[in-house]
Amino acid sequence: MTRETIHTDEEWARILTPEEYRVLRDAGTEPPFTGEYVDLDAHGIYRCRACGNALFDSKTKYHSGSGWPSFWEPITPDAVEEVTDVSHGMKRTEIRCGKCGSHLGHVFEDGPQPTGTRYCTNSISLDFHENAAE
Ligand code: FE
Repeated sequence: MTRETIHTDEEWARILTPEEYRVLRDAGTEPPFTGEYVDLDAHGIYRCRACGNALFDSKTKYHSGSGWPSFWEPITPDAVEEVTDVSHGMKRTEIRCGKCGSHLGHVFEDGPQPTGTRYCTNSISLDFHENAAE
């Protein structure tokens, strides 16, 4: 999937709330255990809150104990883009929406099987659609 420049920064600032903009467009992080989807177990699809791109199926969501919604696999291989992040004195791998480039969270290699991967996301980066097919 080719990255699309969907909106300018000025347009995103109008479309998103200030807190959505801070996380999605400025790589912020919501405080742990505060997001609306941390404990959600309903079946459905999690989409990008900025552009609506399908990101994760609830079938891959699990309780990581981290305080952020955690998934062990994106809904498709190119739904999520991985970028090396060296901010805050750490080397981490940032995850972004594969369509609009908005910040979702980070990915770690301490997840459950079958992948062993933890896609650690901000609730505010996601938009849950219950029982929605892709
Ligand atoms: Fe997006």
